[in-house]
Amino acid sequence: MPAGERLVTSLLVLVLTGASCAAQPPPANFQKAGETALQWVEQLVSLGPRPAGSPAQQKQQEVIAGELRSLELEVVEHDFVAQTPKGSVPMKNIIAKLPEGGNRVVVVSGHYDTFQRPGLHFVGANDGGASAAFLLALARVLAARPLKDSVWLVFFDGEESFVSWRNNDHTYGSRRLASKWSADGTAGRIKALLNVDMIGDENLRLTPEQYSTGWLTELVASTAGKLGYGSIFSRQRPSYIEDDHVPFLKAGIDAVDLIDFDYGPSNSYWHTEEDTPDKLSAESLGTMLHIITETLRELEAVP
Ligand SMILES: [Zn+2]
Repeated sequence: MPAGERLVTSLLVLVLTGASCAAQPPPANFQKAGETALQWVEQLVSLGPRPAGSPAQQKQQEVIAGELRSLELEVVEHDFVAQTPKGSVPMKNIIAKLPEGGNRVVVVSGHYDTFQRPGLHFVGANDGGASAAFLLALARVLAARPLKDSVWLVFFDGEESFVSWRNNDHTYGSRRLASKWSADGTAGRIKALLNVDMIGDENLRLTPEQYSTGWLTELVASTAGKLGYGSIFSRQRPSYIEDDHVPFLKAGIDAVDLIDFDYGPSNSYWHTEEDTPDKLSAESLGTMLHIITETLRELEAVP
């Protein structure tokens, strides 16, 4: 997850359904899917720190692609070499395509690399782990529930900076994929992109992210409200957060970033050795799986 947020001083304009109610737990099937996601977090974390270009990241790529292929999904490995302040680094975005629906595509994405700095043993349970685990669990949910739209799950490499969040030292995978999809015409097929980041926090509170496309943010928030989870969008100040959705917005694709950028007391678990699986909950992951699955269904009605 990125640095470089800018707080907005004006009042939030979103109208949130049910924002004053406490969030309810997800129904049993999504609670179970959340437990599966949490098990994936633990498995990915057991590989150790997984920064872009590392041997552990290569191992993680095999684990992710292996699981997706075991679900009989079409898996596309988008390999590229990124020029970073630490030199050339091989990276890989992984794209899983659910059985083909219509020509229109909805993308659900998140990053799977983890933050690195010298001397820091950072395993990224929430930041990197939760987004990857969420996508793996979602693949299993959606494989059993076909949708009218084509749904692609995208695991981004290289979201984290190598030195500092400046001068394009970040979002390597999403920038490269947005550029490819612009060039080959894929961008025109994409109805919406839903990006998740740091959504495993046991105290789940999504930040209203202000670069995100308004109607899409409102659709996710109203869907969450209808399901009884309206309160997870409340009590956070709206912020501008640069994340993997931004390159797609720049390419003209409607996109939303669903991020909990309030992780631990005063965000003190973010990018520290405190980011471990015990800070996460299956309930939060199950709630997000429920919200996204229903949002995909709502999106079927959008041309
Ligand atoms: Zn991060």
